[in-house]
Amino acid sequence: HLAVSLRGVTKTYDNGVMALGPLDLAVRKGEFISLLGPSGCGKSTVLRIIAELSAPSSGIVRVARHEGEVQPGQVLPGHGIGFVFQEPTLMPWTSVRENVWLPLKLAGVPKADARARADQALVSVGLADFADSFPRELSGGMKMRVSLARALVTDPEILLMDEPFAALDEITRFRLNNDLLALWRALGKTVIFVTHSVFESVYLSQRVVVMTARPGRIQADIRIETVEP
Ligand code: ADP
Ligand code: ADP
Repeated sequence: HLAVSLRGVTKTYDNGVMALGPLDLAVRKGEFISLLGPSGCGKSTVLRIIAELSAPSSGIVRVARHEGEVQPGQVLPGHGIGFVFQEPTLMPWTSVRENVWLPLKLAGVPKADARARADQALVSVGLADFADSFPRELSGGMKMRVSLARALVTDPEILLMDEPFAALDEITRFRLNNDLLALWRALGKTVIFVTHSVFESVYLSQRVVVMTARPGRIQADIRIETVEP
C-alpha cells in the first residue's frame, strides 16, 4: 500500500523558476525515506506539494491520509500529515502544552481530550516535565522535540520533515536521530525526511532518494539494508 505517489510531477513557480521534474516517487506506508540533494533542487517543494501547501504545475499526486477525528467542514490543507520544519516556529506566548495541542484545537477536538493527547505526545518526545514551560525556556533541541510532538499530536499517517535538525549541534542532532528512529519503530508512521547530511540519511532511513540539481529529478533511489540491533 502506498502512502504517497507522485507521477510526472513538475513545478514551475510564478517567477518562471522550474523547480521540479518531471518526478516520479512512490513511498510505501510505514516507510522511512530520506530526500537528499543540493540546495535549491526542489526537496522542500516536494514536501509542500505532498502537504498541499503548494500545487504541482502538472502531474498526479496521491496521498493516503488518515482521516479520523476532524469535524465536518474543518478539513484543513495538510490534514493527515505532520510537518516539521527546520525552524520550530513555536508561539512564544503560550505554554509548550498549548503549542502542541494547537492542531487539535484547529480540528475542533474537545479541550480535555486535546490536553490529554498533547501531554501524551510530549511524553513520546521525552518532554513530559516541560508541558507548562514556555518555548523561550527551552534549548534548540527541546524546541525541536516540541515541534515534533505538535506534528504527531493529530496521529498523522505521514510525517514530513524538512531539514529538521540542521541547526542543532552534533550531539543534540545525534540524540534526536536516535529518538526519532525509536519513535518511528514504535508508531509506524511514513516518514519523508529532507536532509543535506549523507550520514543522517543513511543512518535514519530505509531508502535514500537522491535528487539532481534544479529542476529536481530523481538521480538515484537507494535501498539501505539496516542490520537490526
Ligand atoms: P530545496 O528544498 O531543495 O533547497 P526548494 O524546493 O526550496 O529546494 O526550491 C527549489 C527551487 O525553487 C529553488 O531554486 C528556489 O529558489 C525556488 N523556489 C522555492 N520556492 C519558491 C517560491 N515560492 N517562488 C519562487 N521560487 C521558489
Ligand atoms: P531551503 O533550502 O531550506 O528549502 P529556501 O531558501 O530554498 O530554503 O526557501 C525558503 C523559503 O523561501 C521557502 O518557503 C520558499 O518557498 C521560499 N523561496 C525560496 N526561493 C524563493 C524565490 N526565488 N522566490 C520566492 N520565494 C522563495
